[in-house]
Amino acid sequence: MEPYTCSDCPRSCNALRGEIGSGFCRMGADPVIARAAPHYDEEPVISGTRGSGAIFFSGCALRCRFCQNYPISHDGFGQRITVERLRETYFELIEQGCHNINLVNPTHFAAAIEKSLEGGLPVPVVWNTGGYEKVESLRRFEGKIQVYLPDLKYINPDSARKYSAAKDYFDFAGPALKEMLRQTGPVELDEEGIILRGTIVRHLILPGCAEESMCILDWIAENLPGAWVSLMAQYLPFGNVAGLDALDRRLFPEEYEAVVDHLMELGLEDGFVQELSSSDEKYIPSFDLTGVNPPKGEK
Ligand code: SF4
Repeated sequence: MEPYTCSDCPRSCNALRGEIGSGFCRMGADPVIARAAPHYDEEPVISGTRGSGAIFFSGCALRCRFCQNYPISHDGFGQRITVERLRETYFELIEQGCHNINLVNPTHFAAAIEKSLEGGLPVPVVWNTGGYEKVESLRRFEGKIQVYLPDLKYINPDSARKYSAAKDYFDFAGPALKEMLRQTGPVELDEEGIILRGTIVRHLILPGCAEESMCILDWIAENLPGAWVSLMAQYLPFGNVAGLDALDRRLFPEEYEAVVDHLMELGLEDGFVQELSSSDEKYIPSFDLTGVNPPKGEK
């Protein structure tokens, strides 16, 4: 990719994206990825039976202190590839039978991904994002992304500042999620129950933040009719959380139950609720460059 001046995410750094290290996200123009493989631990409508073709991008425009993918998001582990190689990777995953192409943390590579999707793909494309997005960047993907899978992490600017260094998180995420739903419309499934299009909003309950979780669910119920909700309970103290409020512990069962009860009271029945027992390191994929290079003997 040619270098370009980037204001693609809410950080709006206007950094010259050339070599790795530019901008708040610390990434250059070319994509950097840490893994490209079938993934079986997404929501059942996304992973299905043959897996979701997950491509994990390195770097990030957020700085979540509790990130489970810290080595790639904060430390930038991964391999630089070309846009052409990224597109080849899509087809390798499709040949392996994956139901969709799942772009994990794609926001800061919007320019490269936009190019890689020219000509479309024969399976749905999933934009799997932390939710910190600009509406004008998302508009570039209208018709190219069939499924949006955003987090809605915070509604309170103090939590967003402390935990992700982005006090304006909700100012951007709120309008961005409305735009995602506008583009996709309500969730549609195929005859096997695999998603074809739609928006599924993920919310991870954080320890000590049950009340904020309930406010987030209130906002979703009021503002995103037709979106599904995936309530996640897999929080584990990861990354750099020592001494940071309650983030150095797991969820208490009573916190989890209060939020699940609130979800039910709101009638948000379409979607998924993770069991509290889902908090296990085994759900974190290995960032070992699987699938990043062409299969041996091909190139
Ligand atoms: S994508 Fe990266 S370089 Fe571009 S505005 Fe966001 S943080 Fe800055």
